[in-house]
Amino acid sequence: MHDLKTTTLYVASSSGVGGYAVTFDLDFPENGLIIECDCPAGSNNTMCKHRLLLIKGDSSIFDPDMYSKDCFPNEDWEMMCHIVKRFGLDTLVAKYEATLAELEKQKKQLAAKVRAEKKALQRKFSEGLQINKEHG
Ligand SMILES: [Zn+2]
Repeated sequence: MHDLKTTTLYVASSSGVGGYAVTFDLDFPENGLIIECDCPAGSNNTMCKHRLLLIKGDSSIFDPDMYSKDCFPNEDWEMMCHIVKRFGLDTLVAKYEATLAELEKQKKQLAAKVRAEKKALQRKFSEGLQINKEHG
């Protein structure tokens, strides 16, 4: 891993005010690769879109205030791409997104079942119930 080094890329915030630092921190052999973002979600140890977008190769989120046109982060970007490949981060993120998509689908199906149950009980209440013969 001697050819890989810790790399920081600066991305714009979606609100357009300021930006965030995404760091691919290499610390061998102790911690391995730690991927951090100092946005509110990332600082709170929650998954954020900045890391995912960079790993997926989206360079459109670079913070223009941090890079002038003649100092586009070519070296840092290339280093990050090496890290992504060597650690299989693209595969990891692709699997994560496929799993989330499947879970979202199941969530919609469950929500439909919940609505159907509510509707069924509401129908019983509004259409009239009979005395329960077992407890009469
Ligand atoms: Zn972030």
